[in-house]
Amino acid sequence: MRAKTWVEVNRANLVHNLAEFRKRLAPKTAVMAVVKSNAYGHGAREVATSILGPPKADNLWFGVDSVDEGAALRKLSRRVGILVLGYTPRSRLLDAVRHDLRLTVYNRETIRALAKIKTRRRVRVHVKVETGTTRQGVGERDLLDFVKLIKRTPGTEFEGLSTHYANIEDTSDRRYAMLQLRRFEYAAALLERAGIRVPMKHTACTAAILLAPETHFNLARLGIGLYGLWPSSMVRDDGRARGIHLRPALVWKTIIAQIKTVPKGTPVGYGLTDRVKRASRIAVLPIGYWDGFDRGLSSCGEVFIRGHRRKIVGRVCMNMCMVDVTDAPRVQLEDEVIVLGREISAETIAQKLGTVNYEIVTRINPLIPRVVV
Ligand SMILES: *Cc1c(COP(=O)(O)O)cnc(C)c1O
Repeated sequence: MRAKTWVEVNRANLVHNLAEFRKRLAPKTAVMAVVKSNAYGHGAREVATSILGPPKADNLWFGVDSVDEGAALRKLSRRVGILVLGYTPRSRLLDAVRHDLRLTVYNRETIRALAKIKTRRRVRVHVKVETGTTRQGVGERDLLDFVKLIKRTPGTEFEGLSTHYANIEDTSDRRYAMLQLRRFEYAAALLERAGIRVPMKHTACTAAILLAPETHFNLARLGIGLYGLWPSSMVRDDGRARGIHLRPALVWKTIIAQIKTVPKGTPVGYGLTDRVKRASRIAVLPIGYWDGFDRGLSSCGEVFIRGHRRKIVGRVCMNMCMVDVTDAPRVQLEDEVIVLGREISAETIAQKLGTVNYEIVTRINPLIPRVVV
């Protein structure tokens, strides 16, 4: 039985990409596979099972955005370290503890709420430091008191200190990233001078792993690179990334739902925005913006059918779109169509839409089946 659209995830490519990044890390540095947002659209479950090593391996962690994502992964492995990177509402703290999830913390209210939870389990927390991204994080001035509050709170354990870079993908100017790194090191030293041990330190994302070994510490958070995609073209083209070969792990496919021949001048789709300039063959595809095929690809997107790129005609609808196959007389009903893959990359689509490859893959509807190949 075949779905009308599906996403193939290549296990060997995921394993290969992970190994490429491990080459750049010291053996003592663990990798956190960042599998938030349904593993950047690749399927959290499918990706996690593809890369999970032996149950005792301590050098692989998972990073998720929410308690729900973490709870789903916990079903796959009882032991693996899972850190919630995003905000956990106070009403969900008990769930987090029950699923043995580590939490990213930066609000005193969160720590006070943790203190009230009635459970015999301890909860391990990672404190996010504000170093200049102006996102989540505790400011330098509040840091020591905040960590002391954690230390005094029964049942909570201070396990890690982290930060996140604002502009490390821009390789033309490293100064801001290095300023953030210095602030992070200063924050860690502040705690250590007060006699507080910082068991884990982590700051690096994909770009930092490749470009700045001084950001690695004992845990590195690998997101986009795991999936075989580059954080930016600048990182890809940087000399320091030489020797790293990434293999995109995702191919999004669909099939042709109908083919019709229409006379010259026929309008195609909502709004009559496109009229065919010659007698044409139009193929209807059963995917649209609900599936994550952006409406911005109306009249300008492309898909790949039987070895050739074919243009989207007219507006992308909610669950359908139309393609010009006039020059492809052999194309027939239920032929396979590559929506995103080697031939039509996430970068190409991102460029058309004025966004980044991250957004293209993460917005593939999670309800579309993921198939590990
Ligand atoms: C998403 C995320 C990452 C991964 O970044 P990539 O550029 O995809 O490697 C790392 N750290 C944090 C805190 C994140 O939110």
